[in-house]
Amino acid sequence: MIYLKDIVKTYNKGKSNAYEALHGISMEIKDGEMAAVIGTSGAGKSTLLHILACIDGYDSGEYAIDGMELGKISEKQMAQVRNEKIGMVMQDFALVEGFTALDNVMIPLDFAGRQHRRKRKERKERALEMLELVGMAEYADKQTNNLSGGQKQRVAIARAIANNPSIILADEPTGALDSATTKEIMKVFRDLNEQGRTIIIVTHDPTVAEECSRVIRIEDGRIVKQETPC
Ligand code: ADP
Repeated sequence: MIYLKDIVKTYNKGKSNAYEALHGISMEIKDGEMAAVIGTSGAGKSTLLHILACIDGYDSGEYAIDGMELGKISEKQMAQVRNEKIGMVMQDFALVEGFTALDNVMIPLDFAGRQHRRKRKERKERALEMLELVGMAEYADKQTNNLSGGQKQRVAIARAIANNPSIILADEPTGALDSATTKEIMKVFRDLNEQGRTIIIVTHDPTVAEECSRVIRIEDGRIVKQETPC
């Protein structure tokens, strides 16, 4: 479902400070996989994740989701792929301060393309369902700044899955959490994976990588190892 072939990414292309961050990344991630991307700081993990998330482009190579080659579609179509197929989870949760948990989860539903937008009552029901799925229904009306780190990340995950994306991309999702909360959040990801969602997690944490069905190690802009832990 996710297919990358020889992806090259250069920052500041054509300038004196041009820097090739990815030197030709090739990989395939099948439907329903749960993969970790690991590597030292500066290896190119975030660059790769941003390309996968259609947030950033690449210079050459091929990237296809479900057989649709992304290099060949317009910006508008790209935004549509991003909204419909991909849910993002960030290390710092990226919740809107001053909004309740429910309001945060409703954001992607409110911004869904016109043809997919549901009625407000249905959007609210869907957001509540998502909060229930991550064990946060009772906090729906709480302001997110009053929640703990683990609770914030649960809300962020509920928001990421609100539009029912097939792929969840997470950038150091447990980086700001203690080890007990990390375990809880990984259980949420595993449950979502068991429900059939494809998950890719960038992480520094070996305990997070161990829970994934595949570990992809990147060093200096190249994949150096792909392994399947038992
Ligand atoms: P990681 O996520 O593994 O820490 P990154 O993907 O953030 O690594 O960065 C890979 C390399 O690309 C690093 O050397 C970094 O300095 C460089 N880089 C990242 N973003 C930019 C940018 N916007 N402009 C120039 N260089 C960048």
